[in-house]
Amino acid sequence: MAGQIASLHSRGIGMTSQRTRDRMVARLREKGISDETVLAAMALVPRHMFVEEAIASRAYEDTALPIGFEQTISQPFIVARMLEALRGGRSLGRVLEVGTGCGYQAAVLAAIANEVYSIERIAALLEKARSNLRPLRVANLRLVHGDGARGLPEAAPYDGIVLAAAAVKVPPALLEQLAPGACLVAPVGLVEQELVVIERTRDGLRERRLDAVKFVPLRGGKQ
Ligand code: SAH
Repeated sequence: MAGQIASLHSRGIGMTSQRTRDRMVARLREKGISDETVLAAMALVPRHMFVEEAIASRAYEDTALPIGFEQTISQPFIVARMLEALRGGRSLGRVLEVGTGCGYQAAVLAAIANEVYSIERIAALLEKARSNLRPLRVANLRLVHGDGARGLPEAAPYDGIVLAAAAVKVPPALLEQLAPGACLVAPVGLVEQELVVIERTRDGLRERRLDAVKFVPLRGGKQ
């Protein structure tokens, strides 16, 4: 992946440049992200390639942006915060993302985990993610069309599960697919949402709460 991104970089177009991404990463660091693995992955993945050209100039601002179908690409700080919590300083084997959207966070995950499964319920959005990801040739990422509330039992258990859409309650199927010692990171709540980290320990599930957040809702069924 690094080689491919280097070739994109060599186009040298202002906002798409490594320097712009490095500035985004410097801001993430200032805001308290300290996991170097996550920061390095976010310095690699060209976020501008995951949004429409008309708003690509805003791709490195620390803000969520529309990606169509009433969905959004998550704010860089929140992506960093979630993936830092997901890793908890460990190296990640197989991970599951619920809510592929435009595929950005899936690409970042692919740079920090050995194997990534990402599931999206809107077929047209999954197609968009596929075409966004194609030039990056990410070999360790599988995209699946389905209802992520059920998880993806075929490839379970996972060393980490991350939800990009908010539920009132974390779907129990996802907790069942969590490997011992692994974490699930999810926005939880309806209007008032919080980032929640649930770890499967030897004594059961342990939960802690991070920031207040605003995510699109987790919806049932495929579309
Ligand atoms: N990770 C994305 C963020 C996408 S926004 C990124 O980096 O851009 C959240 C996504 O979750 C939306 O695309 C939405 O369609 C999807 N989603 C909502 N409910 C879902 C469900 N039950 N299963 C799978 N995807 C779901």
